[in-house]
Order: sequence, then structure tokens, then C-alpha cells
Amino acid sequence: MTSAVVVGGGPNGLAAALHLARNGVEVTVLEAQDEVGGGARSGELTLPGLVHDHCSAFHPLGVGSPFWQEFDLGRHGLRWLLPPVDCAHPLDDGRAGLLHRSIAETAAGLGPDGRRWRAAFGDLADGFDELAADLLRPILHVPRHPVRLGAFGPRAVLPATVMARWFRTDEGRALFGGIAAHAFTRLDRPLTASLGMMITASGHRFGWPVAEGGSGKITAAAAAALRELGGTIVTGTPVRRRDDIPPADLVLLDLSPAQALSLYGDLMPGRIARGLGRYRVGSSAFKMDYAISGDIPWRNPACARAGTVHLGGGLAEIADTERRRAAGTMVERPFVLLGQQYVADPARGRDGLNPVYAYAHVPRGYDGDATEAITAQIERFAPGFRDRIVATHRTGTADLSRHNANFAHGDIIGGANDGLQMIFRPRPAYDPYTLGVDGVYLCSQATPPGAGVHGLCGYHAARSALAGLDRRR
Ligand SMILES: Cc1cc2nc3c(=O)[nH]c(=O)nc-3n(C[C@H](O)[C@H](O)[C@H](O)COP(=O)(O)OP(=O)(O)OC[C@H]3O[C@@H](n4cnc5c(N)ncnc54)[C@H](O)[C@@H]3O)c2cc1C
Repeated sequence: MTSAVVVGGGPNGLAAALHLARNGVEVTVLEAQDEVGGGARSGELTLPGLVHDHCSAFHPLGVGSPFWQEFDLGRHGLRWLLPPVDCAHPLDDGRAGLLHRSIAETAAGLGPDGRRWRAAFGDLADGFDELAADLLRPILHVPRHPVRLGAFGPRAVLPATVMARWFRTDEGRALFGGIAAHAFTRLDRPLTASLGMMITASGHRFGWPVAEGGSGKITAAAAAALRELGGTIVTGTPVRRRDDIPPADLVLLDLSPAQALSLYGDLMPGRIARGLGRYRVGSSAFKMDYAISGDIPWRNPACARAGTVHLGGGLAEIADTERRRAAGTMVERPFVLLGQQYVADPARGRDGLNPVYAYAHVPRGYDGDATEAITAQIERFAPGFRDRIVATHRTGTADLSRHNANFAHGDIIGGANDGLQMIFRPRPAYDPYTLGVDGVYLCSQATPPGAGVHGLCGYHAARSALAGLDRRR
């Protein structure tokens, strides 16, 4: 029987293991922490009984992932819940752009921009599954839906700031700009519109759901499915050197390129080792979790119904903030992504207390304390927020990398999302999962299609590994 070891039990490690196991491979997952899940875990961070997401919170590409859908994770306890409003983007004067799953409802709320929003995203959302079949894989492939891709391409290459100016209202521009800011890079750079368009379209196709009971339920369900297929999971086992990996026909690394290099660099062909060596770490996040009494007192009441709230002001301000941050400045008013998961999943709160999640984009490796900047940014759009805080929990950039070696310097998306690295991860190659060492593959979010709890990096890497095995035999 073919054997495989997967190093790292994050969403992609588990996905790789699942695909191998269902193809008859005997799989063992080695996870450094005491529980699997990596960037999709949850638990009590502030007060007993309040469920916080440690990392990922909203999952349009999780619910929509064609890979997870093949495993009926619902049977293993995963249930998706949608907030009434997917995403809100408040402005200082009390106006807000609102993203609903329904494109008609979103358009209706955007007034004069409604028609433009529909024109920009209607076709994309309708054809999202076809588009995703081409975009959620390595860039170098024969397109399955060339017409769909051809319609996406010309706008996708634009900077998000240019695409946003297609809209006329402050709300429309800010809403798109805030969504594009998930790219975690300067918004005035080419290709940044692509991520904003994909996330917006996926929101219209699937909504931005949370997992009932916390994001950890996604990976717990994947782990249960894996065990059912005969896979083994060993936790509390960090792999620090090659000898820590038991002999196996295949080794899949749910690790950063830097970790892959430290484990196998000496065996890799020079061009691959050099390619991984050039891979650039991405921007950093600083996360706050709050326990609050009741709800956030938003100036715009519609924000109270949103799962995600983007805080950063209008388009011009966000673009400027992200530009300065990327240049290494810790700005006074950073871009903040706030999560009110309890709106969709009230059981995450207890006795009138609710968990609130927020993280700021900060300069790479920022070692200061962004607590006040994040709290002030929330207070800016929700005066009185401070008075409702009952407890807090802070996760700085160093804490992120301590909990997960893949999140080096607090880089939560597994590598910089700019320049050619945005489309060629971790290096330009037809098969970016191979490491040039027999049987060894990279399967983490540093490979296509990149960050997110969709499991597709793991799936494509496992497919590549099985194809390689066939070629070797
Ligand atoms: C604050 C934050 C917010 C986010 N928000 C979202 C969101 O809302 N939606 C979304 O889709 N995504 C979100 N993400 C991104 C998402 O979490 C990642 O894209 C995803 O977890 C990547 O999965 P992965 O399996 O590639 O890697 P990881 O999740 O990093 O998993 C890697 C696993 O490997 C283990 N490991 C590392 N080194 C070793 C070693 N040497 N030996 C053994 N084990 C090791 C780690 O402990 C970890 O369990 C967020 C991430 C963060 C941190």
C-alpha cells in the first residue's frame, strides 16, 4: 500500500490527506500543535463560554469549495450560517455600503451605483462556478471556460483603485475598495482588482458564511472525514528536521516555502531552491478579540446585521493607508476587518455577552501594540464601543508566528500578494506543488490558489503527488 506523511494539519494539509486517503493511500498527518486546524480553529479567548475564531472567520470559498463539497462535511458536524448582511462598510457621516448575497438587494442599497454594481458583478456571480474552475488552480493551464475568463481578464488586471472608480458613490467605491483590501497589498497596484472581484462575486454566489460553533468545526469535520477513511492524525509533533518525518512514499508539506527549504533545500535542484528562496513573506496582521456587553453601537444601524464590517473610511483613505503601511509605516488609523460572527451564530455569545473579532493590517513584522489603534477605529464608527468592552485578548504578529510557524512575522496569507508572486506561487512553474525531490510536495496556502479555507491547495498538491507516483512506477 502506498504511504504518505502530511506535515501540518491546517485546512490544506487535511485536504491533501483526504484526497490521498480516498485514493487508497495510507496517510499520517503530523501536526505541531495539540489540535489540528491551523488557520481554521476556534475556542475561548476572552471569557468562558464565548467562542472566538483564532484565525479564519468568513468562508465564501469554504462553502463554495468544490473539494469540501465532495466530502459531505455536514455529516461530520459542519453547518454554515449566513448573517443577514454579508459585509458592511461604514463611512464617517453614517452612510454605509452593504454587500448582500442577493445582487438585487445590494444594488438597491447602492442607489445610483446599483446599476453599475449589477453590471460589474452580475455576470461574474452568475458564472462564478465556471470562473472558479479556471482561477482556483495554477495559472498555467488550458482554460476550461475561455470566454468567461476572457471577460474577467481585462478588468482583473487593473489596480483596485481604478476598478473602484467605475462606481460613482462613496459607498460603492468604499465597499469595493474594502473588499479588495483582502488582497492585503497596495490597492494601486495592477491585478489587485482581481481579488476584489473574485471575493465580491463569491459573496453573491454563496454569501459570506460562518461555521456554526466556530471555524474549528470546518477542520474538525475534515479531520473526522479523514479518520473515517482510515487516516491517522498525530498532534503535538512539530517537524523540525527531515529525520522527524517517518519514511513514506509521499511527503506533503502544509508549510511555508521557508520551512520546506529548511527541510529539503539541500536535495532540491538549484533553480527550485533559488525560486523558493526568493519567495517574499507577506504583510502582517495584529488581531484583537473582545467580549462585549450586547451589540456594537454602530452609527449606521445596518452594520449591526453584518457578519463582516470593514473599517477604514472611504476609498482614498484606504488606498493611502495601505500604501503607507506597505512602505513600513504604522498608520494611526489602520484598515481593520471586524467580525460579528455571533450575528449569524448567536450561540457563540453567552448571558448577554458577545465575542467580537477584529484584525488590523500592520507593517510587516510590526512589533508594537495596535490594540488602541484597532479599538479607536471601531469607536470611530461606533461611538460608545469602548464602554461595552468587558474583556480583551490580543494576538500580535509574534504571537501569530509562535502559534503557527507558517504565519512568519504575522503573515496570515502565506506570502506577499504582489508583483508576479500574486499569480505564480511559490515560483513560476507549470506544476508549482513539486519541489524537485522525489515524492515531496508543497501543499500549503503558498501554492495556488492561495489563502483561504477552501482546501484546494491541498487537493491540487495531492493530485500532483499521485500523478508523480504513477510516473515513477
Ligand atoms: C487572523 C486571520 C484571519 C483569517 N481570516 C480568514 C477568513 O476569514 N477566511 C478565510 O478563508 N481565510 C482566512 N484566513 C486565512 C486562512 O486561515 C489560511 O489561508 C488557511 O488556514 C491556510 O491553510 P493551510 O493549511 O495552508 O495552512 P495553515 O492553516 O497555516 O496550517 C498549517 C498547519 O501546519 C502546522 N505546522 C506548521 N509548521 C509545522 C511543523 N514544522 N511541523 C508540524 N506542523 C506544523 C501548523 O500548526 C498548522 O496547523 C485568516 C487567517 C488569519 C491568521
